Amino acid sequence: MESSGVRTLGVTWGRLSCASVRLQGDMMKVLGTLLRLFLNWTIINRFFEKWGAGKPLVREGVTPLDQMLDDAAAAGKPLRVMWVAAHPDDESFLGSVLAKASLKCKGPLHLVVLTHGEGGETGKLPEVEEKGLAEVRRSELDEVVKLYNATLSIRRYFNASLPTDSFPYRHDLAAMWAKDGDPATYIANEIRAFRPDVVLTFSPKYGATGHPEHQLASRFTTQAIRMAADANSELEGEPHTVQHTYYMLAKYWLLRIGQMKPDPLPYTETFDLRQPCVDGRRCVDVMADNTRPHRTQNNDMALMRTVNQVFYKQYLHKCDPFTEMEDPYEEWNVRGMG
Ligand SMILES: [Zn+2]
Repeated sequence: MESSGVRTLGVTWGRLSCASVRLQGDMMKVLGTLLRLFLNWTIINRFFEKWGAGKPLVREGVTPLDQMLDDAAAAGKPLRVMWVAAHPDDESFLGSVLAKASLKCKGPLHLVVLTHGEGGETGKLPEVEEKGLAEVRRSELDEVVKLYNATLSIRRYFNASLPTDSFPYRHDLAAMWAKDGDPATYIANEIRAFRPDVVLTFSPKYGATGHPEHQLASRFTTQAIRMAADANSELEGEPHTVQHTYYMLAKYWLLRIGQMKPDPLPYTETFDLRQPCVDGRRCVDVMADNTRPHRTQNNDMALMRTVNQVFYKQYLHKCDPFTEMEDPYEEWNVRGMG
């Protein structure tokens, strides 16, 4: 009896110990989750948000893009979305929105990219030696385009080489690009062919990071939107008026701790990065996963994947390209990332 009693006690104790360990493990998980939520939402994000993003420019009666995408998909006519950028990895800046538009809402998505990014980092990959950076980055982008279920049109305008303080001035870059064919005409033809409801691009004065080629992509895009709508412009195809144009703004507070400045434009709306997207992943997770094919850019992409764990909003500025005009050739004597 005694041995049996001891054995029973031992087994019971053992079970209790296991239960206790399990309880502790579960408790730790719960505590960890609570702490993360607390840090993410309550203190850091809420407290620092205004410091990072400033006040919104409130426009009454404007439906945010996030809502429009849902409404259009629910009505069985998902929005046609076009993203115009300078470099083969730029879609990562707005990947969560692109993932929702294409993968969640099942709308057509078209990416227009102006350079092959041959001035960027090589990631020290042997294939770059073999094929050249332009070709490798192009094939990396092709993989990403498949992940977003998108289509792609890419040009090979000049891409300024690192370091950033050796970049030509923005207006000089614009002139160099134009020598290879007017970028606005190229984008306008893409608009007439794809006929987007929504065009997304960088902001014209800062361009997410201060990169002059991001700013030019934005400036040529809004010029192209005006050209595409103009029945008198010498373009292929029928005129098309883009109904909704947005600049993505990098205004997240965390970016201000690094070297990045906040975009001077106020935001008019935000997009929820943590909303469910596809395959049980949130939009921000899809964006992070879809950065992986950019192997040559792994330094930047790894950083992007890490900081996006804290991001929960994408700031957007809805612009009117017919009244808010920013000349790509405007003289801007600031070198590098300005
Ligand atoms: Zn870029």
